[in-house]
This record gives sequence, structure tokens and C-alpha cells, in this order.
Amino acid sequence: MDRLLKKISDAGLDPSSVSGEEAITFWEHIRQHIAVSPQEKARCYLISAEYRNKFRQNQLSIDELKNALALLNLPDDAEDIITIKNNLCDRLVEHGHYSDALQEYIEISTLAVKYSSIDDYALAVLGMGNLCDAYGDHARALRYYQKIDSIDHALSSRTLRLRYKLYMVACLTYLNRISAAESLLKECDELSILVSDKVLTGQVILYTVQILRRKKQYMQALHTLANAHLSIGGIRASWLSNMLRLEQVLCLSKIGKIELASMLLASTTNRIQQNASPVLLKKLYDTLSYIFTQQKAFAQALTYEKKSYRIEADLIKSIPISDLGSFQLRRLARFELQLKLIMSEQENRELKETTENQKNAVAQLQQDVFTDPLTQLHNRRWLEVKLKDLLLHETPFAFLVIDIDHFKSINDELSHLVGDKVIVNVAQELKNQFKFKGASCVRFGGEEFLIIVEDSTLERAEMLAEQLRERIFQFRWYDILGERGLTISIGVTLHKSGENTQRTFYRADKALYRAKANGRNQVCCE
Ligand code: GH3
Ligand code: MG
Ligand code: MG
Repeated sequence: MDRLLKKISDAGLDPSSVSGEEAITFWEHIRQHIAVSPQEKARCYLISAEYRNKFRQNQLSIDELKNALALLNLPDDAEDIITIKNNLCDRLVEHGHYSDALQEYIEISTLAVKYSSIDDYALAVLGMGNLCDAYGDHARALRYYQKIDSIDHALSSRTLRLRYKLYMVACLTYLNRISAAESLLKECDELSILVSDKVLTGQVILYTVQILRRKKQYMQALHTLANAHLSIGGIRASWLSNMLRLEQVLCLSKIGKIELASMLLASTTNRIQQNASPVLLKKLYDTLSYIFTQQKAFAQALTYEKKSYRIEADLIKSIPISDLGSFQLRRLARFELQLKLIMSEQENRELKETTENQKNAVAQLQQDVFTDPLTQLHNRRWLEVKLKDLLLHETPFAFLVIDIDHFKSINDELSHLVGDKVIVNVAQELKNQFKFKGASCVRFGGEEFLIIVEDSTLERAEMLAEQLRERIFQFRWYDILGERGLTISIGVTLHKSGENTQRTFYRADKALYRAKANGRNQVCCE
């Protein structure tokens, strides 16, 4: 892609300057006149398909994705093929081509296992579960989501982790397993802080409200809805804001405010477009039918009940539920052994590469390659080598995962330059505290850091983390930030012997999001 972008700019063109329908023409031009290799042309189709999707040119979007696929070949283009197929699935589902989507999910799952991509495998299984959900078979959907749950620690995308957990919550709620739904939702709530995706945060709120409604705690549900705009104000996903409104309608009617409910329902009905997803439309018609029944307008209630039924019947007809039965689940079960192999291969590779490359790696330990330019801390590349070294020598160690609290607002309110200054100062404080032998500081991502403390107990690691937290809290931020202070949250965990480092990181990450959820500016251990 980088090479294609360079060619485009060499030709004096700028992809960021075009938008809207113009972009479709732009990418067609690039494909015909600038892209050379099939991979580059496929990229052009993929981008153009995304624009077409925005303009609801669904069929054209599907066609372009298929054109892209036709240009690519296994095994070299496996990664691109899977990406495009994932996009294609989204389009097919939106367009109601459920059988075709399922075929793609099946192919993606096979490819993902073959090419060792756990996240893509999970994504395909998620799609299959979603089809069961749309059909209304939530128990079956749950079985698909549980398959992802069994490889949870090996997922590398937090967003994906949050997504499937949210679908599980929805299933558990439908199945009336409320306490299980609640405890999982709590985990989602905490995880959503680190994911910071408004739509997913909105889903956390939606399911919170649905559970409260099931528990007949209508006032609390309304209260939650009233506060929703604080965390998800201005979301673009109209299905979500409409689902939230429909929840509000139901809760209002439950506390006897039928008039208010039906007023809100009328405006929501106007907002929901005919091409909305069938699941949203069905929810709308069910709500309309319910409210009209409450008002004893039985004829109207019946009309909407019929409309809802028609959608349900269409879904039942078009979703190939029998292909999602035990045969499919068994097929996935057969992958489980392979998945375990992939996971343990990942672990072994870590060790094997260590033995093979250790000398090279150490020789390569040159400043510039392994150092983060902004903070002069170690970077992720360094971390990879370091972890292999620790595993090779079976050195016990603790992880401290550190994330600056509310950092985005510093960027937003005081500029990126100030944001960078904060990162540099936090990094310097890390260095000051962890300068003893056996401690290493890594800039892990934007405003996230990782500290490795070798040969440490959990208690000591926690104590060090607490000292660091206090140190940052007490730091003279006034010169940089004025009145507002700065805090960090820290997750701490010990590496267990024999475990792969991804799993250790996963546990530290969990502790971190607990620290965030508990109010930030604190240390949590896992
Ligand atoms: P939370 O307390 O939940 O962690 O809130 P937050 O605002 O810190 O949340 P989040 O992790 O979403 O924000 C991270 C932001 O950091 C998003 C990104 O724009 C910004 N960022 C990432 N890397 C850099 C960088 O190198 N410099 C600057 N200035 N900002 C960065
Ligand atoms: Mg962060
Ligand atoms: Mg942060």
C-alpha cells in the first residue's frame, strides 16, 4: 500500500483531497492508470467499494470486492484475501444475502486457521453467531461466541474482544441468564474504557438498560439512558441511537408515561429509514405494537405485529440456519486442535527464535532500531527481543502496564504538542524510578508504557507501581498543564513460568482496565 501511495503522490495526486462520489472516480483512475500489480488494483477496488458502501451502492460495492478477490491468489495474498472477504461478508449481510455470507465465513475460518490468523478466525465465527442471532436462535449463537471465548487470551484486538463479549451479553439477556449477563457486562464496561469506541460504549449502555428493564428497574434504566449522551454524545451509528430510543419508549410506558412514550416513538419511527436493518425494524414494529396495545388501539397493534412477523418470517426463510447446526459446530471443533497448535506454535516460536537468533538479536541491539524517538525509551521491537531473552533464560519477571488517564482531552484541549511533552515527562519519570538493574521501560504505544521488573514478587511490583503512580501524581505538572493535574493507571501481573508473554500481557491489561473502571489514578493487580 505504501508503494501505491508513493506512486500516487509521484503522479501529483492526493487521495486525501477527494471525498464523496469523486473518490470513486479517483480510485477508478488510480486503478486503471497508476496501479500496476494485481495487489495494487485489488486495493483500489477495496477502497472504492468502501466509498460505494457509504453511498448505499451495495450491489456495486459487492461487485468491486469480488473483482478484487478475482485479482488475488493464495498463498501469497492470503492476508489481503481475508481482509476483502471480511468486508464482503459485511456487505452481504447488510444486503440480506445470508447464505452467501455464511459461505464466506466458512471460507474465512478455514483460511484463517491455515494462515494462522486467530483474530480473523474469531471474526468469522462471530459472523456465524450473528446469523444465528438474527434468526432468533440465541442459544445457538451463544455456542459460537463461546468458541471465541475459549481463545480469548489469544486475540490481539481489544475491539474484537469487546465485540464478541457484547454479543454474548445480548444472548445471555435474551436467554434470561441475567446474572451471567451482568457479570460479563461489567467486564465489557471496563474493557470499553481501553477500547474507546463510541459505538461499543453505546452498546454497553444499551445492554445495561435492557438488563435493568428485565429486572423491572425502569427508573434506573431511564436514568442510565439520560446520562448516555455523556459518554456517547454525537454517535454516528443511527441504529444504536434508535435502539436506545426504543428502550426509552419501553421504559417510559412501563412507568405509566404512555403519552410521552408514544410521542417519542412517533419521532423515532420517522427517524428509522425503511432501509434500516431488519433487526432494528423488527424491534421498532414490536415496540409500536406494544405501545398501541397499551393504548388499546388493537387494530393498529395488529398491523405492526404483522409487519414484525413478516420480517421474522423473511429472516427465518433467508438465514441458512440448518447449515449453522451441529455440523458446522463440529467443523469448528475440528479446528480447535489446530488453533491450539497455532497458539502453542506462537509460544514455541518465541522460544525457538530465541535460541536461533539470540546472538544476532543481541548484536543488533543498536540504539536507533530499538529506541523510541520521542521518549528515548525502549520500543516494541526491543521488547520482542527482551521477552525472548527472558523466556530463554527462564528469568521470572513482572509486567506493569501503564496508561495515562484522560490523555485524549489534553490533546484536544491543549494541543498535540503539549500531549507530546506530557509523554516525554512521564517517560522521564519512569526512567528516574526504574533505573535499577533488572528494570526496563518500554513505550508500548501512544500513551501506554510497559515496565518489566525482573526477579520480582507481585508485592514488590505492586509497591513500585504505587510509588510510580504517586510520583506522577505529585509531579510538577503546573508548568505544562496549568491547573489540571495528571494521573496514570497501572495494571500489574507476574509472568507465570511456562506461559507465553501474550497471556501475561493479557492479564496485566485486564488489571489495567479494572484500574480504569475503578476510577483511574490507581494500581490493580491480576
Ligand atoms: P483513558 O483514561 O481511558 O486512558 O483516557 P484516554 O483519553 O487516555 O484514552 P485513549 O487511550 O483513548 O487516548 C489515547 C490518545 O492518545 C489517543 C491518541 O490521539 C493519543 N496519542 C497517541 N499517541 C500519541 C502521541 O505520540 N502524541 C500525542 N500527543 N498523542 C498521542
Ligand atoms: Mg490508551
Ligand atoms: Mg489513556
